[in-house]
Amino acid sequence: MLKVEGINVYYGAIHAIKDISFEVNQGEIVTLIGANGAGKTTTLQTISGLLHTRTGSITFQGQNITNIRADKLVSRGLAQVPEGRRVFLQMSVQENLEMGAYQPQAGVPKDLEMVFELFPRLKERRNQVAGTLSGGEQQMLAMGRAMMSHPKLLMLDEPSMGLAPLLVEQIFEIIKNLNKQGSTILLVEQNAQMALSVAHRGYVLETGKIVTTGTGEELIRSPEIKKAYLGG
Ligand code: ATP
Repeated sequence: MLKVEGINVYYGAIHAIKDISFEVNQGEIVTLIGANGAGKTTTLQTISGLLHTRTGSITFQGQNITNIRADKLVSRGLAQVPEGRRVFLQMSVQENLEMGAYQPQAGVPKDLEMVFELFPRLKERRNQVAGTLSGGEQQMLAMGRAMMSHPKLLMLDEPSMGLAPLLVEQIFEIIKNLNKQGSTILLVEQNAQMALSVAHRGYVLETGKIVTTGTGEELIRSPEIKKAYLGG
């Protein structure tokens, strides 16, 4: 579904992404894990067209999307939930969700119902202002907003960030659930343990390079990964 081949991304003189290649197949949860500053967010931003690669290519469903503008990608079925949620704090839950529909027309009430089924907590709070939601609820809202565009591929940037352990588990349950219902997911996480436990496959990023890849199970069992990312 998604093929990233030989991308190199720079911030001025800083070479942040060094010749990265990986792929995501339909129906998979694939995770990119790595420490602070490894290049996970940069990789997602490059796929979603917010940053440019100097080399290589990015293909989505057989079409070249390298350096295509972010707003054009949503209509092709690619949605990103950014790091730190970025919901509209002054708007209600429902208004936030409506912002996620890229064709604000007839389908919206049905799409709202679909999202409320996935996230019953949001339904209870549909008229509440987003700024007063808890961190976990804001994460659900950001994910629900992305689901409003019926993405074929959902890219999640650190959904567990800043959440209490119980909520982290809930968010990962939701991720598994979305995948079971047909969403393909590219998941960027610092919480390697949780990410690898739900992912079919994973890639480990270190200072802008992919250093290891394998199934979620293989990576979780690997002594090097245990030592570097899973607290021994
Ligand atoms: P984190 O888990 O902390 O979010 P990350 O793996 O997502 O980290 P990136 O945010 O992709 O890492 O950063 C990769 C590298 O690029 C880091 O060295 C970072 O300092 C650098 N970088 C990121 N954004 C910029 C920027 N706007 N200008 C300059 N350097 C940047």
